[in-house]
Amino acid sequence: MIISMKLHATKQEIDAVCDRIKEFGYKVHSIAGEERCVIGAVGVGDVTACLESLEAMPQVETAMRISAPYKFVSREFKRNKSQIKANGVEIGGDEFIVMAGPCSVESEKQILETAHAVATCGAQFLRGGAFKPRTSPYDFQGMELEGLKLLRKAKQETGLGIITEVMSDRDVEMVAEYADILQIGARNMQNFSLLKTLGKAGRPVMLKRGLSSTIKELLMSAEYVVAHGNPNVILCERGIRTFETATRNTCDITAISVLDELSHLPVVLDPSHATGKRSLVPSLARAGVAIGADALIIEVHPQPEKAVSDGAQSLTLPQFAAMMADLQPYIALWKKSRVAELATA
Ligand code: PEP
Ligand code: MN
Repeated sequence: MIISMKLHATKQEIDAVCDRIKEFGYKVHSIAGEERCVIGAVGVGDVTACLESLEAMPQVETAMRISAPYKFVSREFKRNKSQIKANGVEIGGDEFIVMAGPCSVESEKQILETAHAVATCGAQFLRGGAFKPRTSPYDFQGMELEGLKLLRKAKQETGLGIITEVMSDRDVEMVAEYADILQIGARNMQNFSLLKTLGKAGRPVMLKRGLSSTIKELLMSAEYVVAHGNPNVILCERGIRTFETATRNTCDITAISVLDELSHLPVVLDPSHATGKRSLVPSLARAGVAIGADALIIEVHPQPEKAVSDGAQSLTLPQFAAMMADLQPYIALWKKSRVAELATA
């Protein structure tokens, strides 16, 4: 249910409504708007009786049911797009965001060189895995804490925000100390115990779509994080498994628009994992901007042929610079339409 209070409702009035909601067996989660408070309520109870009772309260403007199974992340719950702040940068606002860096943090030289290069090209976030989810247990598993410290050094030198993966609920607190955005990898999209822990992480979360997950499942996973206390969730389309073998995954480009219709959360496109092949990354990145994604996340490496993971899909530093230059006219159009959209919101 979503309950919209009358303009300038007092704290006491809001509390009275929350108490009534709880009497019907629902859990309350409120978002205070600038002038009008909107209260979200979820749970199992007699929804019709609860809505009738709330509507009869003088301080309530409207009370309605949310039909989507994902409540807090749905457009029904919040009509306007959410802006999520990390390292002073807004994702989902009127600036197009680029996150770039290697698949894995490998050495100080590698991460610092990449960080300076991507910052110069206009990226706002540095990506780099310190904990790597690898298919084979014999493959490089990441530099862990040492990698996180190198990311911090790169942030200190460049001012870039840091996005890095956390694989286990055990590590959330430690990774959150170093990261501005916690990345949840495709393989962990339905790690429900991790999702619950992220609710208390105190950092924005970027949730990547699972290898064979539907859009609804992605939104249900986002709902877990929000329902457990963290409203700052960003969604990421990174390609899904299909019968096609020409690319590493099949990019569901339409998912960007579908997610934008169904949810107020910002959406990122990852053309690197979606294609698995560097020659295909710039054109898909362009498509991502054109279709209205809020951000791109791109794998970049100073020497992709020597990368310990995902070298084949990593752009060289000059290739990244060229891609960023090529994207500028598309980003200018994106900005024009985003500013207009925000003005009418
Ligand atoms: C990554 O970003 O390097 C990664 C492992 O991505 P995904 O979880 O989408 O496979
Ligand atoms: Mn990777």
